[in-house]
Amino acid sequence: MLQNYPNTQLFLDGEWRDSVSKETLEIINPATEEVIGKLSHARKEDLDIALTAADKAFKEWKDVSAYERSKIMRKAADIFRSRANYIAKLLTMEQGKPLAEAMIETLGAADSIEWYAEEGRRAYGRIIPPRAKGIYQFVFKEPVGVIAAFTPWNFPINQVVKKIAAAFAAGCTAIVKGPEETPASVAELVKAFDEAGMPKGSLNLVFGIPAEISEYLIPHPIIRKVTFTGSTAVGKQLAALAGAHMKRVTMELGGHSPAIVCEDADVDVAVKILSANKFRNAGQVCISPTRFLVHDSVYNKFVDGFVKKAEELNVGNGLEDGVKMGPLAHDRRLTAIEGFVSDAVEKGAKILTGGKRKGNKGYFFEPTVMTNVSQDARIMNEEPFGPLAPISSFSKMEEVIQEANRLDYGLAAYAYTNSNKKAQELGAGIESGQVSINHHGLGLVDTPFGGVKDSGYGSEGGPEGLEAYMTTKLVSQTGL
Ligand code: NAD
Repeated sequence: MLQNYPNTQLFLDGEWRDSVSKETLEIINPATEEVIGKLSHARKEDLDIALTAADKAFKEWKDVSAYERSKIMRKAADIFRSRANYIAKLLTMEQGKPLAEAMIETLGAADSIEWYAEEGRRAYGRIIPPRAKGIYQFVFKEPVGVIAAFTPWNFPINQVVKKIAAAFAAGCTAIVKGPEETPASVAELVKAFDEAGMPKGSLNLVFGIPAEISEYLIPHPIIRKVTFTGSTAVGKQLAALAGAHMKRVTMELGGHSPAIVCEDADVDVAVKILSANKFRNAGQVCISPTRFLVHDSVYNKFVDGFVKKAEELNVGNGLEDGVKMGPLAHDRRLTAIEGFVSDAVEKGAKILTGGKRKGNKGYFFEPTVMTNVSQDARIMNEEPFGPLAPISSFSKMEEVIQEANRLDYGLAAYAYTNSNKKAQELGAGIESGQVSINHHGLGLVDTPFGGVKDSGYGSEGGPEGLEAYMTTKLVSQTGL
């Protein structure tokens, strides 16, 4: 039975409320195009409430011991996990991904909160040996302050939790500008933290016009740190604004991941793992494999296997049993993906399967495999963010490493080889924040996740993710 989808309000100073202006936005189920709910839309007056509350709460939360913070966070994880069935359904209804993927995201969030609850207890400083007797040099790690987090719609829960779990563990408080397309699952995350006992005002959730909110929050003196996940174009604007006001930033931006299959690779394994990850979340993943670069000698086998996998995919409403790929998350993506395909075809690409919208209700797009794609086609240069797999061939290692590094992106890369020498060469030679070889091993909370070049700055996940919310202070003293 279909559950009801709730309307989402703003969470300001510990209370769920409508915006001062009472404006709302509509939420659309991308599988049916039906309006399923409403979202309160914040303006400056609402942001002011959030700013004052987060500032006040910071003075309290920073002094709560790491041990106590950890207890509250673990409780939030338990609450969130206990509601996973309900929350995963909301996520599928608003975002479109299959229920199994929504469940992984939901349970993964509880895991991330627990991991940072523990990591926060190990935010050690250090004592540095002095140059003269009687001097003590202490290095303290302190929370940076109130953070502003801007998060997108492709992993609505995951993108928020990685930021706030680390920030809370460090002792910061937060204003989250959540994704307007997919708000209800994020609201559930906020509820879990609130019910677990986070201080009033420590977590504020707003939605509205993204540019209006970021332009107000980033320069505001109460905000000390900005963290954003989204496109490179927007990231550059926000980083520039943050720079002008000397705010620290973490920028998780776009990618264009090369996926290299060498002549000695296990091609069946490469096809299985790469196709599953290409079409996960309908390709709307910043680390989605994008440029498939396959050695001449195994090219035909890889292409045939990949086409078969694409054709076998059951595309449909993510709430239905057996569905493996849902719709694109909103109509903007549909237009964008159609644009990538028509541009590639105009420049000579051959579509082996897919290539068009599926049906005329819901934002479904066929899993698409294309070959003969010109290097100047847009899909070979811009992040497609959709279920499109352009496959090209190569013959030499130098050539493929050069192609992998050709773009300004550097978020993720994949390689398949049974040669340890080649694995080392690829691991060392590819300019990327993360390289995964012979499996899909990215994105766990235990490990750092982040890009280089135009893919961003800083890491989420791992101890690096906690460090991002802390400042370093030296206190040097002599004995009395
Ligand atoms: P978009 O570039 O307008 O928005 C991307 C995200 O940034 C959204 O969450 C949006 O709310 C936010 N945003 C946009 N302008 C902002 C501003 N001035 N201040 C603060 N936040 C702002 O476009 P879109 O149609 O939502 O997505 C298009 C592209 O964004 C995709 O093709 C993809 O390249 C990228 N994207 C990347 C990720 C990621 O995980 N890195 C996630 C979502 C979208």
